[in-house]
Order: sequence, then C-alpha cells, then structure tokens
Amino acid sequence: MDAETLNQTDARTFLRTIGKALQDRSRVESSLGLIVANVGNLDHLKSVFGYRNTMSSLTEMARSLREAVDGEDAVVRFGEGKFGILLMSLKNPGHLVLAANKILRTINRRFDIGGTTFEAELEMGATVSGYGNSDPDAILQQAETALLAARQDNVSFLLYEPEQTSRIRSALLLEKEIDAALENNEISMFYQPKVTADSWLPVGAEALMRWSHPTRGFVPPDLFIPAADAGGQIEPLTWFGMNAAFRQLNDWPRTWGPLSVAVNVTPRLVEQADLVEQVGTARSLWSVPKGSVTIEVTENALMRPGQSFTTLQRLRELGIRVSIDDFGTGYSSLSYFNDIPADELKIDQSFVRKMLNDEGYARIVRTIINLAHEFGLQVIAEGVEDEQTAEALAALGCDYLQGYYFSRPLPQADFITWLADYRPER
Ligand code: C2E
Ligand code: MG
Ligand code: MG
Repeated sequence: MDAETLNQTDARTFLRTIGKALQDRSRVESSLGLIVANVGNLDHLKSVFGYRNTMSSLTEMARSLREAVDGEDAVVRFGEGKFGILLMSLKNPGHLVLAANKILRTINRRFDIGGTTFEAELEMGATVSGYGNSDPDAILQQAETALLAARQDNVSFLLYEPEQTSRIRSALLLEKEIDAALENNEISMFYQPKVTADSWLPVGAEALMRWSHPTRGFVPPDLFIPAADAGGQIEPLTWFGMNAAFRQLNDWPRTWGPLSVAVNVTPRLVEQADLVEQVGTARSLWSVPKGSVTIEVTENALMRPGQSFTTLQRLRELGIRVSIDDFGTGYSSLSYFNDIPADELKIDQSFVRKMLNDEGYARIVRTIINLAHEFGLQVIAEGVEDEQTAEALAALGCDYLQGYYFSRPLPQADFITWLADYRPER
C-alpha cells in the first residue's frame, strides 16, 4: 500500500480491500489479521487544536502506523480518526497481539501543535480470519466489536471474542434505559461502612450505586457503569449519585463523630476538568463539611497523568480525599508515587480475600501497606469477609477496613439503623 491509501478511503473501499486479501489468503497457509484503531479523543482534540491541525496530525499518525507494520501489510484510513491495519500473513492470533502492542509502543501518539503537545488516545480491536469468517463484512464487524469492548473496559486493545457481541448488545440496550432509570427513580445509593482497623470504629461509608430495573430486576453496577461510561450517560449518573450521597450524609447520626462518604468516579470523568466544579457545587448545595468527602478512582485514572493529576490535585486542595480504588490490579507505574495526588490506597479485594490462604497474596497486601505508608498515604482494605482477615490486616498496619464482615452495602435507612445498633467487638 502506498501513500494514497493514507488519505481517507471509505468503508466500502476498505471492505473490498479486505475481500481481496481474504481471497489471496485462501491460497496460503497463514491467516489474515485485522486491527481497527480509533482515536478516542478526536472531538476533544478538534475542539482544542482546530480541525486542520488535528487532521494533519492524523496523517502523521497514519505514516507512523505504516512504518510500524510490515511492507506487505495494508494501512488504510477509513474514517476521520479511524484506521484499518491488515496483517497479511499471520501465523497465529498471538502474533496479532504482538503486532498491536508494537503499534501502541512505536507509533507516535504525541503531536506537537503550536508548541503544545497532546496525546491521541488510541483504542484498538482486532480479529483473525478463519474464526468462522471468510466474509469481509463479518471480519470488520468482529474487529469493531472488539474495539467497542476495549472502550468499555477502558483498555487500549482487545482481541475479538464471541462473548463481546452479546456484551456490547446488552450495553447498547442498557444505555438507552439509563436516562429513563434516572427519571423514574430506579437508581439509588447503598452504603457500606468503613471502620478503623485497630478498634473497628465507623469512619464513614462507600456509596455504591444500585439499579432496580422494572423488568430486569436488579442490575449490578459492574454491568451498567461500564455501559454508561462507554456511552455518554456516565456524567448524569455520577452527578445524580454524588448529589444523593451528599444529601443523605446529612441524615446519618453523629453517634460515631463526623462521618465521611466515598463516591466512585470513573477515570474518564477524572480527565475532565469540570469534575472539580461538579464536586464543589454538589458539596456546597448540600452543605457538606470539609473533610467529609472521598473520591475513589481506579488506578487506570493515573495512566495518563497529565490532566488527571491536575484534577485530582485540585480536588485535594478543596479538602476532598482521593483514594486509589482496586489498587494492585491496574497498570500504573511506581514512578509517579513521589507526587501521586492521593491520600489513600484501597487494596483490591481479590488480594484481601485470598491473603489468609496464599502467602503470595499476603505478601502483596503487606507490600501495598508498606508502600502506602512509605509515601505518606493511608490504606484501606476492601473485601474483608471474616474476623481473621480483619485481624491479619490490623497486624500489618492497615488503617481502615471495609467488607461483608462488618456489613454488606445497605440502603440509607438500613445504614442508619446499622450505625445506631453497631457495637465494635474489638
Ligand atoms: P468498588 O468501588 O471496588 O466497590 C467494591 C465492591 O465490592 C462493591 O460491589 C461491594 O458491594 C463489593 N464488596 C464489598 N465488600 C465485599 C466483601 O466483603 N466481599 C465481596 N465479595 N464483595 C464485597 P458493587 O456494589 O457491586 O460495585 C461494583 C463496582 O461498581 C464498584 O467496585 C465500582 O467500581 C462500581 N460502582 C459502584 N457504584 C458506583 C458509582 O456510583 N459510580 C461509579 N463510577 N462506579 C460505581
Ligand atoms: Mg470503590
Ligand atoms: Mg474496589
């Protein structure tokens, strides 16, 4: 493929290219790999840097994509910020993963426009011919599905798996229903207590969203939060949840002293500067005292430190605690720890639940606790299901505990009762 294909072709032409490649493949042993890569933050880039600058940067990117693959492979631009990469002789699917990694590593995603550097956020999906697909349309559909699944999971790359098709489909359906859910009061917040590790005194609760759907019954947050995040409803959903939590915090009894509430925010929202404003507005609307709010963000929010570090730091300047959720499961690097804009690490429950039976997990937990303290952060363990785990965590110096052993997440009224009836047994 030569320079002219780096200019935009339409999807129909691209399908013909795939068809031709498939035909050629039928004569040889190897299979065909297709990667679809999309610049996820294209609209954002256009609005900041202008259409023309962004477009010329995309041409630039096409060129480096071209250089990252073999000579016989094809690189096609078939949408504004969308690229198709056809790998002509693939020995096995593993090679596709290697190729995708190479693309992510080697193509230049940083562009310099008028002295400002910005990063294009690539999301990629891929599939292999011979996966029951000798039809160009089907192979492109599979790669597009994998791309949507990658966006949903907030990862850079996924290889197609049949399970993604139904996942994307039900996500689409859910997306449509989220607006209605908010209007019809089907969404509410549950609260799961957090206690001190040394004397099990309540310090607050994590607010966890619940959707009671009229026909589907209870829809777990793990299903609809990623769908909302990939669609566009994560903002209304988050602002709703945050306002509900701040409002309800006012009705918690003061028996245990001032309590705080923790709200989960997805990495996508952390990259948006208006998070700070939204939290600030909600806090003054419900007169929430300083120091009573924690924002939980997963480690993935730290992967692109630029904007997100600034946002988290501004939150902290407002007196809002920042906790790094599911710590240990993400891909963040230790190098940022020196200036990590956080107050707390939250050890992922997958480590906590196994720490008593597996020395390896116990070591991970111990290491996280020491790491946190080394950098002046506090530590909370989630998923504490029994007394022995609670004791082991206290012995390791963990600061706070959360889990079924103390309480499951409860609706507001039950949480208030829990606070009234609770007697620390330590
Ligand atoms: P997360 O923030 O890591 O929340 C902890 C999850 O672990 C909750 O699941 C909680 O019910 C569960 N859990 C707590 N203690 C235990 C335990 O001892 N054992 C076991 N097996 N599980 C325990 P849940 O409520 O289903 O929430 C799942 C995830 O959905 C949350 O994980 C969070 O990432 C997301 N989520 C929930 N509410 C919100 C929200 O309002 N906004 C956003 N952005 N995400 C939310
Ligand atoms: Mg959380
Ligand atoms: Mg968690």
